[in-house]
Amino acid sequence: MLVQSAVLTEADGDPVAVDNAGGRSDVLLVCEHASNRLPEGYGDLGLPADALTSHIAWDPGALAVSQRIAKNLDAVLVYQRFSRLIYDCNRPPTSPAAMRDVSEVFRIPGNENLSEAEKARRTAALYLPFQGRIAQEIAARTKAGRATVLVTVHSFTPVYYGQKREVEIGFLHDRDSRLADRMLAAAADTNLYLIARNEPYGAADGVTHTLEVHAIGPGLLNVMIEIRNDLITDDVGQGFVADFLTGLLRESLVDA
Ligand SMILES: [Zn+2]
Repeated sequence: MLVQSAVLTEADGDPVAVDNAGGRSDVLLVCEHASNRLPEGYGDLGLPADALTSHIAWDPGALAVSQRIAKNLDAVLVYQRFSRLIYDCNRPPTSPAAMRDVSEVFRIPGNENLSEAEKARRTAALYLPFQGRIAQEIAARTKAGRATVLVTVHSFTPVYYGQKREVEIGFLHDRDSRLADRMLAAAADTNLYLIARNEPYGAADGVTHTLEVHAIGPGLLNVMIEIRNDLITDDVGQGFVADFLTGLLRESLVDA
């Protein structure tokens, strides 16, 4: 069991990054799984190198796509600088998925038998500042009379437990499907990508936490976008997908 006195050192830096602060779009982009970086005090958590670069550590390509959409729309982007292996910022502290000791086929030795104190330290170091920064951004806009449309951007693995996933882009929602409905309608005529609602998973899998915390209660338009990560491995793929999603968001928000 790892016992850390401080989760992040000075060299690790801030857990939260904000791109295009001051962006004028109503859209607020969030990328919880942007990075596979581990805080220096945690070593490799006992994982092999291939696990540390795989989808269990982060959402490959999701940050680059988010940054491109942020640029296209002039939108603020908030993202987490550390791996979900330390704390998954799209899960509440009470969820066993917040600090998993198993992910798909990998055991995560450095997360086994975590003490309550260690869980509390990670929550305070990574989750609270991240969700707090999003709340702060929304509160400032509301105070200024500005709307917020919350869009979270993720990627998923093409093969999960040996099963190939056919879907390429998913629009996910919880109880409020307004924006997902509009994006699906806007995408109805495209043959560029295989698109689906609440695929490859949905709210019942606990993936709509950030939407739930910030958007659903106050009634802000919101959607979670999932992109199959083999489509966004390089600049070209990331650019195509980001520009496609930008177009759908613009069309979906015209009369919003
Ligand atoms: Zn994700």
